[in-house]
Amino acid sequence: MRVLIINAGSSSIKFRLYDMEREKLLAAGTLERIGETDGSSVYRKYSAADDVEEHKKNSPVADHTAGLKQIFDFLESNGPLDSMESLHAIGHRVVHGGEAFQAPTLIDEDVINGIREMISLAPLHNPANLAGIEATRRLCPHVPQIAVFDTAFFRALPPRAYRYALPDELYRHHHVRRYGFHGTSHQYVAKQAAAYLQQPLKTLRVITLHLGNGASAAATLHGTCIDTSMGMTPLEGLIMGTRCGDLDPSVHFYLARTLGMDFDEIETLLNHNSGMKGLCGVKDMREVHRLADSGDERARLAIDMFCYRICKYIGAYHVTLGGLDALVFTAGIGENDPFIRQSVCNRLSVLGITLDRNRNQDGTSGTFNISGENSKVKVLVVPANEELEIARQVVLTVNKDRAH
Ligand code: ADP
Repeated sequence: MRVLIINAGSSSIKFRLYDMEREKLLAAGTLERIGETDGSSVYRKYSAADDVEEHKKNSPVADHTAGLKQIFDFLESNGPLDSMESLHAIGHRVVHGGEAFQAPTLIDEDVINGIREMISLAPLHNPANLAGIEATRRLCPHVPQIAVFDTAFFRALPPRAYRYALPDELYRHHHVRRYGFHGTSHQYVAKQAAAYLQQPLKTLRVITLHLGNGASAAATLHGTCIDTSMGMTPLEGLIMGTRCGDLDPSVHFYLARTLGMDFDEIETLLNHNSGMKGLCGVKDMREVHRLADSGDERARLAIDMFCYRICKYIGAYHVTLGGLDALVFTAGIGENDPFIRQSVCNRLSVLGITLDRNRNQDGTSGTFNISGENSKVKVLVVPANEELEIARQVVLTVNKDRAH
């Protein structure tokens, strides 16, 4: 049962091909700088013995259709697939499903129109996701295609968590509310944590921290997510590589009135030139550490603020969940940065959380437990794998559809 997962961004396409009988990765790759003169791609094929065969190419890629055609040619000519039509299904990551799409959905014209209607809520993401879907439908018209929404894991947030204290009609008529993002990642690592602890997720209170370039926290009570840090857009919440996270809305008025900035400039400032980059000049956490280690006070403060903001959310969600069984770190920083994990957990002794310094420092592959011997909460590191979660949801959706 071969399932292809496509994650189409505005200028890139990432893909993964799985054999879902064994949940084995067969091929993966990334195609970058679509529409520019210096397009490039890296494709990897994984053999039975887990050997990796890598193919790199530097050539311009005109648009998403040309990019997908290149990917499909690679998959057909390099062995993982006899033909694209032999695929069981194709899954697409779609960032914003709004209130209309609360579960993985078999794509047809109505679904495409629905995703299009959501563009005003996710202008940076949904157009690219749509371009990927439409091109794939043209190239593989007979393979079932499923949209898996980043927002869907947050479908059961209670209104007290998802509403903003704004006039009611802004929610009722204009969709202004918190939606949450990184849902597939939070869902995957919460499930993996439960499996690792050998306890059903429906018995656990879990906080998951997705700390990558984008960063978010989610509170999952007995398998249902009840609060999350990202809002109507992925700008709210934690401090990120280039995004500011929580901010007094009056800062916008001040910037407009005092500095004469327009909407576009403010949007660019808050999304692309704030966060770690705004605080200390670099967005990559490894570079922030290098600066901090060399004595740069701005970088030290940026790290302190990054961890402090995370702790504020953990404190809030601890109350929301009525206690905590597991705290889970994932994504680039969460998986690879023992210093950040330690700095966060140092502030959490009031919750009975302790770390095992050696296990935190040494790490290992796969899921690992870094909690101290007497910690009241299990602290785990779980590698992110949104694509596998999307593939699992695709299989469930196609099978359900066939059973009807
Ligand atoms: P994205 O949100 O783009 O998927 P990732 O999950 O790949 O991001 O995370 C990217 C972040 O992870 C960057 O800030 C990068 O510096 C950080 N990161 C990756 N490896 C390490 C490491 N070994 N130590 C600290 N930070 C790391």
